Amino acid sequence: MSEQQGRKRGSAPADSELTNSGKKPRAPPQATAPCAVVKQEREEEGDAGQGSSSSSNDARRAVVAALEPQAMEQPQLKLVIGMSVFHCQACFLPLKPPAFMCESGHIVCCTCRGKHGEACDPRRPAAATFAVCPGRDVVLGDAKMPCQNEEFGCKSLVVYYQAGDHHGECQWAPCFCPEPGCELFSSPAWLADHLNTHHRWPLTNVRYGEPCKLPVPSPEQGCHVLVGEGDRSPRVFLVSPSALGAATAVSLVCVSANAGGGGGQFMSTLRLEVPGNKEKLVLILPVVRSGDLSCGLPTADTDVFLAVPPVLQPEAPNLFVCIDKADAAAANSTPPKVE
Ligand SMILES: [Zn+2]
Ligand SMILES: [Zn+2]
Ligand SMILES: [Zn+2]
Ligand SMILES: [Zn+2]
Repeated sequence: MSEQQGRKRGSAPADSELTNSGKKPRAPPQATAPCAVVKQEREEEGDAGQGSSSSSNDARRAVVAALEPQAMEQPQLKLVIGMSVFHCQACFLPLKPPAFMCESGHIVCCTCRGKHGEACDPRRPAAATFAVCPGRDVVLGDAKMPCQNEEFGCKSLVVYYQAGDHHGECQWAPCFCPEPGCELFSSPAWLADHLNTHHRWPLTNVRYGEPCKLPVPSPEQGCHVLVGEGDRSPRVFLVSPSALGAATAVSLVCVSANAGGGGGQFMSTLRLEVPGNKEKLVLILPVVRSGDLSCGLPTADTDVFLAVPPVLQPEAPNLFVCIDKADAAAANSTPPKVE
C-alpha cells in the first residue's frame, strides 16, 4: 500500500505539524516588487526632467499598473494562530462576521450580543454597549485552513467558520475498503485506485446519463468499480454482486461518507440483456444508496438488487448501468444509508 493512498483503520493521522514541515513552503512575500515600482517611477520622473513628453500623471499610472498584479495575486502567509481568535467568547462557537466587542473587550457573535451584557457585568447589564470589529471581521472572513481530509486528497482551503459545512459535504472524506481482511481507509477516489490495483477489481469510467455495458460481475471475482467523469472530486460507485441461491443479486452503491452532500444524489437504471433475446430485466433506482462501507458491501439481505437468474448466466448476458445526477427534487430528500 502506498503511504499516499490512505491509512489503516484506527491508525492515528500523521502529526499535522510534522506533515506541514515537510512541505514546500509557499512563496515568501516578493521583497523585490516595491523596488521595481520605485525604479520605474524614478525613470519616468527623470524622463520628464529631460524634456520628455511623459507627465507626472503617466508616472502615477505606471505605478498603479505595476501594483495591480500584486493586488490580484498577493503573497500568502502561513500562520500558527490561537483558536480563540476565531471563537465567540460567550458561546464558544466559531465566530461568523460581523463580530462585536463589549465594553470589557470580549469579542462575541451576533447571536450572543443581545444576551451578553448581564453575563459580562451583572452590576450594570443595561450599560453594555458593543462596537463593531472590522479588523477582526477581515481575519474571520479571509483566514483559511486546509480541509481535515487534506491527507486523503482534498485540496480545499476553507474559511474557519465555514469548515463544518465543508466537512459535512467533502467528497474526500474517507471510506473503508470493503474487501474482508483489508484495513485500508481512504477517500473514494483513492479507494477506487486501490480496489483496481490491489484487489484487481475492474474499473470503468462512466459518463452520467450514458449507459455503460459491463459483464455481470460474479461474487467470486468481486465488484466492478465505476468512476463518474467530469467532477472535481470523482464519484465512485460499486456494482456489487452477491449470491442469492443459484442466482446472482446485483446492487449498486455510491461510495461516500457524506451521503447526499456536496454535489447531490444519483439515480440509476440497471438493465440486463441477453444477446439475441428481446427480454430484459430492469431495476430502476430513483436514489442510489450511499455509504462509507464501514459494514462492508451491500448484500441481498440489506439492499435492493437486480436478480440474474441462473438460467441466463450461461448465455453471457450484458449488464447496462446508467447513472445520472438526480433532479433537484430528489436531491432535497435524504437517501437511506447503507448499514
Ligand atoms: Zn456567540
Ligand atoms: Zn463582555
Ligand atoms: Zn474537503
Ligand atoms: Zn483493500
